[in-house]
Amino acid sequence: MSIRIFSGLAALAFALCASAAEQQYPTKPVVVVVPFTAGGPTDTLGRNLAASLTKILKQQVIIENTGGAGGTLGAGKVARARPDGYMVLLHHIGMSTAPALYRKLAFNPLTDFEYIGQVADVPMTVIAKKGLPPDNFKDFIPYIKQNKAKLSYGNAGLGAASHLCGLLLMSALETDVQTVPYQGTAPAITALLGGQIDFMCDQTTNTTAHIQSGGVKAYGVTSAKRVPSLANVPTLQEQGLKGFEVVVWHGLYAPKGTPKPVLDKLNAALRTVVQDASFKDALAKLGSTPAPLDKATPDGLQQQLKAEIGRWGPIIKKAGIYAD
Ligand code: ASP
Repeated sequence: MSIRIFSGLAALAFALCASAAEQQYPTKPVVVVVPFTAGGPTDTLGRNLAASLTKILKQQVIIENTGGAGGTLGAGKVARARPDGYMVLLHHIGMSTAPALYRKLAFNPLTDFEYIGQVADVPMTVIAKKGLPPDNFKDFIPYIKQNKAKLSYGNAGLGAASHLCGLLLMSALETDVQTVPYQGTAPAITALLGGQIDFMCDQTTNTTAHIQSGGVKAYGVTSAKRVPSLANVPTLQEQGLKGFEVVVWHGLYAPKGTPKPVLDKLNAALRTVVQDASFKDALAKLGSTPAPLDKATPDGLQQQLKAEIGRWGPIIKKAGIYAD
């Protein structure tokens, strides 16, 4: 009897401590895993997010880059992390394509995570090395078809935004060019600037500065409307690719089982960030926009993820691409 009372009291004490810890969260630095290399688009968004979250949570929010396999290594790491709010994941559209692309996926996007909310939308650009002969998209189309055997384009691995955009572009142009995968588009763009690859599709968060400085040629943006920070770059739709639209949505996830009070704090912080003028300005300079308030919610992210898994699954199956 007395042992039972003691263990009951111990359990109660433990529960009280746990809930006190949840109420005081965060009491130590929070790690945001970026599943791509440092210096790339997700990293850039992550660092802007981390700077704003640090101010709001009054606790250091730091980025950890775990690149590889189109973002699936980093996502798998967070799926297996302790669910206490001290390790979360910033990932993009790749979260919705991975289930169709990877036969052996170490996580399930629909069951292994708690959803904090959508973070931002980032359009993409088709860019080429300075020395590639075509000066615009109109000339690029016949050029790529005539020279496909000797051209190559970079991406950040199966399921990366650059991979999906490249796939849609090749299918729209009815051609096929050799791809060179990297662990992120930061090394891919370095290879492009160095002339080792010829062109790529990449997010404006990574390409804007290079386009503005004339370091690369820009053939078009992948959004339905022009991007204000790159007003001179026409959309691919304007240039004849009817219906071509790729906008990279991003979400913030926590491991399944993260306590509700912790998730609530993270979500409240995220909702403050997406409304913050300095965050908006920093993103606008990079061609990106913060998620609207109603999407910066657990439900907003979950709905998006489900819809996107439904959208990409058939496209990927039809294309017959997968990794073992
Ligand atoms: N988001 C990736 C990166 O940060 C690139 C991609 O998905 O294409 O490198």
